[in-house]
Amino acid sequence: MTRIVYVNGRYRPYAEAAVHVEDRGFQFADAVYEVIEVAGGRLIDEARHLARLSRSLDALDIQPPIAETALRHVLRQVVVRNRVRDGLVYLQVTRGAAPRDFPFPDRDTPRTLVCLARPLSRAARAASAAKGIAVKTMPDLRWGRCDIKTVMLLPAVLAKAAAGREGAKEAWLVDEQGFVTEGAASNAWIVDTEGRLVTRRADSAILDGVTRNTVLDAIEIEGLEVVERAFRPEEAHVAREAFITSATNTVMPVVSIDGHTIGDGKPGPITRRLREIFPSVAKAS
Ligand code: PLP
Repeated sequence: MTRIVYVNGRYRPYAEAAVHVEDRGFQFADAVYEVIEVAGGRLIDEARHLARLSRSLDALDIQPPIAETALRHVLRQVVVRNRVRDGLVYLQVTRGAAPRDFPFPDRDTPRTLVCLARPLSRAARAASAAKGIAVKTMPDLRWGRCDIKTVMLLPAVLAKAAAGREGAKEAWLVDEQGFVTEGAASNAWIVDTEGRLVTRRADSAILDGVTRNTVLDAIEIEGLEVVERAFRPEEAHVAREAFITSATNTVMPVVSIDGHTIGDGKPGPITRRLREIFPSVAKAS
């Protein structure tokens, strides 16, 4: 089956889908994106993702490329046309193509919109969650507006590569004050020695994850205690439990941080419970 990608109003075969060489996403990372989980053919927490997309666009003064109802339609079309049951949709909006120059191009320059869908193995993710993953801390070398979901991902790419060389699936980024901000592509959580869930407050140092917010809802439903505060790697090393959250991982247990075994080295009970109830708390549409 040929994969189909939506680019600027047209559904194109994967091999022919392309954007202009002077696209500002390509030249300046002048672009934002979203990744939405697809489960059973439905989009998970679409409304929250589109609300964040709108905040990212506003923050960079990029006009929405198409109306939100049209975008919702395109997202469903790429899921259906690619026959994705379980996987993700990726969408990117750039400020458009214009001769390379730092100032913004004319406001009426058409924005670039790309949407694609891809299957992900449910079994592989379940196997990973059953074992838990290792993470490695790395310096956070990103900019001061990590709350905007831009495609400027090189520090995250490098941190993940360095973590990977040490056998870790994810990097936890550490700011200049010595506190964990978040994962390279996820939010970071621990269960502290008192049994409270801890994750950093959503300020400009982190991306306010959609999954993070749905997990906060799940925590409330379960009547668990949560504190939104920063924590250091040293505290994480002795935590009872740890996990990451992101759209494609939902709740993914962490069983090792910088080589320190977390709990008994198996996914902890609170983490497992949150992963289990996540699908019933998230909104599928
Ligand atoms: N933090 C960063 C830096 C990310 O890149 C991501 C996801 O890509 C997340 C957090 C998790 O966000 P979400 O739960 O919306 O996928």
